[in-house]
Amino acid sequence: MVSAVSWRQLGLAAVAVSLGLELMYRFVRRRRPLREVLFFPTPLICTEALLSPGTCCSCPLPHRTDGALSQLLRRLLQAQHTLELCIFTFSSPPLARAVLLLHERGVRVRVITDSDYMAASGSQIGALRKAGVVVRHSQSSGFMHHKFAVVDRSIVITGSMNWTMQAIQTNRENLLITDDGVCVQAYMEEFQRLWEEFDPAGYCFFPEEDQNGS
Ligand SMILES: [Zn+2]
Repeated sequence: MVSAVSWRQLGLAAVAVSLGLELMYRFVRRRRPLREVLFFPTPLICTEALLSPGTCCSCPLPHRTDGALSQLLRRLLQAQHTLELCIFTFSSPPLARAVLLLHERGVRVRVITDSDYMAASGSQIGALRKAGVVVRHSQSSGFMHHKFAVVDRSIVITGSMNWTMQAIQTNRENLLITDDGVCVQAYMEEFQRLWEEFDPAGYCFFPEEDQNGS
């Protein structure tokens, strides 16, 4: 009788330990935070392998898929549902291609940018709008100086870097990539706040003094 109880207790203990280990494994996997830091400048490379997988490119650029630009592109291209971009200056062709690729895949892309710089030479904002990406821009006198992206409302990419080739290839810049829930929520709230503030229904096309006839 005692022996039977002991075996039963041993069996239950084994099941409990097994369940505990499984739960601990799931908890550790779920809680492992995403923390990546990218530094620029990064050498100019061909990005076709990421932007047009399966195609053969014979351009003279190095055909590598490491480096900060590749990592940034990979993080953007993993978007399945939404991409929020809040970028002061956006003139990088490979990053614009990544955004257009996501738009074509059906990812809901929203872009906020600065009114002064969206018409600057080389800006990709026109190309994005032409493709149907919804863009809103600042209206106030201060710059819309943010540089951040939120992928699938679960990953924030933020730092000093404008999305320009100058920043990618020449400047000392940094990007932090995180899935910290508090950070993601704060950036989403800031995006939504600006999205509503820059609603085209509220755009003012003439300075107030002109409207007053002065
Ligand atoms: Zn190439």
